[in-house]
Amino acid sequence: MAQFPEIQALFESNKLWAEKVKETDPELFPTQSKGQAPKILWIGCADSRVPESVIMARKPGEIFVMRNVANQFQAGDDSANALLEYAVGPVGVEHVIVAGHTGCGGCIAAHASPLPTETSSSPLMRFLDPVIRLRHSLGERADVDELIVANVKRNVQNVINSPAMKDAWARAAKGERPPVHIHGWLYNLSTGQLEDLDVSVGAKA
Ligand SMILES: [Zn+2]
Repeated sequence: MAQFPEIQALFESNKLWAEKVKETDPELFPTQSKGQAPKILWIGCADSRVPESVIMARKPGEIFVMRNVANQFQAGDDSANALLEYAVGPVGVEHVIVAGHTGCGGCIAAHASPLPTETSSSPLMRFLDPVIRLRHSLGERADVDELIVANVKRNVQNVINSPAMKDAWARAAKGERPPVHIHGWLYNLSTGQLEDLDVSVGAKA
């Protein structure tokens, strides 16, 4: 590892962090080695500037996470569906947060793209396909910020429509699990603050 100082530095800072946690929060590691019970699922963008636990000052074990390009939950994405099924199933998550952010590179790219064709061969452009289509459905005058907000709302809807969420709501209605809610948020890179987009949905009939 010595030939990559930037990689070596990660091991060093990890060691310092673990030592500090052991000192300041001695119960954390013994508790966590027994299991996890986070109440929050964060569906966010992979962007390095939006690390959910850091921006909300949470400890390891508090937030279950899925991050990808432009905070998407796509109906046909097995990885996303598996994660949601696990989160609202065995893990017992009670709040699902879809969080977009200002200056989102995925949305900026989608905003600048023409409507995709069937022949789009790049995985990135295929993954951005729903965002590009959303951008064009908003009309030519819609700016990137409008697309970012619309993309959060669209993906909140995608979570609502998912089989895992319908199952969780059905089980909650029968009292077999606690209620589960979905929220849409926006993180502002220039202030470091989260904004609730007021699209929260609770138990569905
Ligand atoms: Zn982003």
